[in-house]
Amino acid sequence: MKKAKKFSRKLTSPIWEYFAISEEDESKAKCKLCTTEISRGGDKVANFTTTNLKKHLEDRHKEKFAEFEKKIEKIDEEKKSGSNVDNPLLITDFYHSEKTIDFSHPMAKKITTAIAFMISADCQPISIVENDGFRYLLNLLEPRYVLPTRQTFSEKIIPSLYSNIKNHLKKTIKESNAYCSFTTDI
Ligand SMILES: [Zn+2]
Repeated sequence: MKKAKKFSRKLTSPIWEYFAISEEDESKAKCKLCTTEISRGGDKVANFTTTNLKKHLEDRHKEKFAEFEKKIEKIDEEKKSGSNVDNPLLITDFYHSEKTIDFSHPMAKKITTAIAFMISADCQPISIVENDGFRYLLNLLEPRYVLPTRQTFSEKIIPSLYSNIKNHLKKTIKESNAYCSFTTDI
């Protein structure tokens, strides 16, 4: 684990099952099968590719290369069928953007009000803001948005939405000199 920390780039390709970065020179990779050191394609991190490593595996270790190709195929298939990262059922940890927008940001305000409206208009329980599916949807649409807590919704946001609507209705009724009649089902 000590070695991995040294390098900022994550080695995600399955090719790294057959190679390790040289401890003396990070521009070189050492073949785990025959210990040959191979250039990673340049001196700078930006120039590093896995081309030479794949070529070495193909030339020297044909069986392992076939195994590697199968792994790549499998990854591609998973990507295509969406059975990997795109499946919300498999996502346990949501992606959190490092940049979040403040609750006072106009976009955040709009979203918060829309959620409060949805809860009220659709008679949803406030606990919906803690539901994984709902949170996943929000995160997908606006990863920078930080969802207020259930308590904030119940104690502040929804009451203030109600009082805004009440005031608006009062004003509308006052301004229109018409008679109003209300009906209720009890
Ligand atoms: Zn080798």
